Amino acid sequence: MTKERGAKGEDDDELRWKIGDRVYALWAGNNCYYVSTIAEVNETDRTVVVTWDDADTSHRKVSFDQVMRPSDETTAWSRSRIEKRATVRSTKQKGRCLFINEACEPGQVVFAERPLLVALPAVAPKLWECLQKLHEAQPLNLGTITFHFAALVSVLTLETGDIDIIRDKYVPEPDEEPNEDVLRILKVLQEADLDGESNRIRNLEAKNFQRLVSAWRYNSFGHHKEDGLVLYNRISMCAHSCDPTCCWSYGDEDAFVLRSRMALEKGGELTISYLQDEDLLKSTGVRQQKLQNWKFTCMCPRCSLKVDVGRGIRCQRCKVGVLYPEVPTRGFETCKVCGSSPSSEDTQMLLHMEEEYVARVDTLDKKDLDDVQTVYQAALEIFERHWILYVMDTILWEGQRQKNIMVAMEHQRRRIDFHQHYYFRPTFILAWCHEELGDCMVQQFPSRKWHLMQEFQRAYQMLAILCGTTHQYTASPYNKLWQVSNTNNSAQVNASAGSNDGETRKPVAQASISM
Ligand SMILES: [Zn+2]
Ligand SMILES: [Zn+2]
Repeated sequence: MTKERGAKGEDDDELRWKIGDRVYALWAGNNCYYVSTIAEVNETDRTVVVTWDDADTSHRKVSFDQVMRPSDETTAWSRSRIEKRATVRSTKQKGRCLFINEACEPGQVVFAERPLLVALPAVAPKLWECLQKLHEAQPLNLGTITFHFAALVSVLTLETGDIDIIRDKYVPEPDEEPNEDVLRILKVLQEADLDGESNRIRNLEAKNFQRLVSAWRYNSFGHHKEDGLVLYNRISMCAHSCDPTCCWSYGDEDAFVLRSRMALEKGGELTISYLQDEDLLKSTGVRQQKLQNWKFTCMCPRCSLKVDVGRGIRCQRCKVGVLYPEVPTRGFETCKVCGSSPSSEDTQMLLHMEEEYVARVDTLDKKDLDDVQTVYQAALEIFERHWILYVMDTILWEGQRQKNIMVAMEHQRRRIDFHQHYYFRPTFILAWCHEELGDCMVQQFPSRKWHLMQEFQRAYQMLAILCGTTHQYTASPYNKLWQVSNTNNSAQVNASAGSNDGETRKPVAQASISM
């Protein structure tokens, strides 16, 4: 797996190892990193001797540049180091975007950035309370007070330079006039009893406030634990793509750890998805609609396809072929089996039915499994490889999991099939589909070792790309994989530990690392 080798160093030349440090070190048996403790430090030849967590006694001497701290991947980088790695450039079509300055392997940390500001209620409780009252009296148009709160906290707590960075963020209308909510809040705050430097708020101009609210609205992320927002400097230059080149997870102290989701060439664009993973599995039209929240039209590779293969319809004539609509929808492709294509009348009817089903699926009650089952069965007559089937497969998988595991597993397999057909990249959904399927297999078919290992291995490899090998998400399938491979024929597993085909051969309990 890819790791940030030598991730230290550029900022931290005086890196010193000492006895007792918990580290990842390269095990020469298969060139993978494993957990260990430093037992000896040899400054002259720049090596350490480590004690492997699993008490393996081979390859204990490791050179400095093949040792790293477990938290290397999750600690924020300095600004200068991030700037060396990624560059902001203006593009004709999309404005300012972010590009990488060197090639990256899948799963490699592109950079890890600390927040410019974390706007949680606890930062300014009186202000939060005041806005909440105001929102209860008459709801704000944005439906939440978090954006206004974050804008005000920026003014209260940040230095001018950092506020300017926020003002410089993308907003759809840079000259937007202050709206009624902004004016109302300012009026109330003039008289409010606030702690600290409330003068800063009293002196805030309405137009400036509006700009900050919009900057937060279009560039921030929801905090992963509390009701609040987080804003990053470089990260907010990342454009959206429905086939994003990067993925991310949270690191230490709300650091944003950006990783490459696929191999990136030097100069390649760094993109993330503004949509959740499950929305990336919906049709081009639905994705475009959701992206209207950010007021732009996505022109990513998936949105530019001439045919939407997430909206399959079973050929009404031969019942074998699957027809996909052209985008924008004019008609369907010809059937690849019988060569027919629906008449314009049939096309209209099919598109109309599709609309009806989409609306129906949107309002399904997840708890009413019988109803979902009825809609699902009827939909199967018409659709194949359609995202609404995926949505129902998800509901039925979750609903049947505790009731009828064999039925649930079928839905899980169909989810994996559709995901791979429509959007075959590592995602948390796909990784967890495999892990959960593996869990079911352990219960139902414990003797199908090859199959269990395959499911856990896929989950592990994908999660290692998405959030790194030291993340607890990744440790979960890793440990299951190890358990499975270690049952019955451990002799065989141990015998191949020295071969060069993957770190899964060597036992390490990664879950025990403190993160
Ligand atoms: Zn797109
Ligand atoms: Zn056909």
